[in-house]
Amino acid sequence: MNNGKFVISLDFELNWGVHDCLPVEQYINNLLGVRAVIPMVLELFSKHNIHATWATVGFLFFSNKKDLLKALPVEQPAYENEKLSSYAHLENVGFNEDDDRLHYGSELIELIKRHDNQEIATHTFSHYYCLAEGATSRAFEVDLQKALYVGEQNGVLFKSIVFPRNQIDPSHLSICEANGIQAYRGNQDCWLYDVTTKKDHIFKRLLRLVDTYINLTGSHIYSWESLIDGFSMVNVPASQFLRPFSRKLKWLEPLKIRRIKKGMTKAAKTGQIYHLWWHPHNFGTQINQNMKLLSKIISHYNELNAKYGFESCSMSDISNYALTESNYKRGVSHDVNKESY
Ligand SMILES: [Zn+2]
Repeated sequence: MNNGKFVISLDFELNWGVHDCLPVEQYINNLLGVRAVIPMVLELFSKHNIHATWATVGFLFFSNKKDLLKALPVEQPAYENEKLSSYAHLENVGFNEDDDRLHYGSELIELIKRHDNQEIATHTFSHYYCLAEGATSRAFEVDLQKALYVGEQNGVLFKSIVFPRNQIDPSHLSICEANGIQAYRGNQDCWLYDVTTKKDHIFKRLLRLVDTYINLTGSHIYSWESLIDGFSMVNVPASQFLRPFSRKLKWLEPLKIRRIKKGMTKAAKTGQIYHLWWHPHNFGTQINQNMKLLSKIISHYNELNAKYGFESCSMSDISNYALTESNYKRGVSHDVNKESY
């Protein structure tokens, strides 16, 4: 039996991930807090040898508007709801990273790159919504290829993708694969986490909130075999969104931590995969409480690592293992870094 694996992924997006749904005045402290959060998280990860995937919006690779505008593709998404488009938001973007801390991330990307075992993945170029009305395969491909190009210009070769708002169109997976991407983060296999329906009903959101604290839908841990068999790309599905500290629901915090720890323990004991994810901006306020929460999870990981050999992995670590294992089973000698699969 393989040892269990502990996967962490963070969707790094700053305002590109929320400009369409949250007024900036309402969320600015969370967004500004990201500049403090990322160094703290990286320090904690380094101290405990945690591998993680930072799924980064392509627009964040820039440090000034001139370069960003120059890099925009001619073919841009034509969503029916224009508000969704990052391109429609460009008029609100400042001149450079010093005067606009919400839309540029090159300093932070460089910091992540300087830390060992941190994978920089793509969260698409423009925070592209695969299931929005008006989205097309062609527009997705243009967006992805632009992300890959900008990554390459910055010395990053993307091997994994996290789809914005977890909107996955299965027909896009072959486009990812053809462009050298090996892994994506799937959703929990449960109707509550299904994002294909048009409206995210309030009842569903409420149940998801309850599910953070009380186990309504199971542990969402995944067997190694489920990743290996019958895939074109490796799906590294989410187990749990790490909901940030809530002052209002402070009394429920122990339940939330207990739920996460239980899932991790089960994965460690049974040789399965547990995948925790969140956004750096979720930690952008109440930073100390959020870092305490993360420290508790990491110290539980350390215990499981010592006891069961539970191993910290990025998404690309998992896909490398899965592809090697799959080809070993098929009797194919294969270098997983090539696209010959
Ligand atoms: Zn996002």
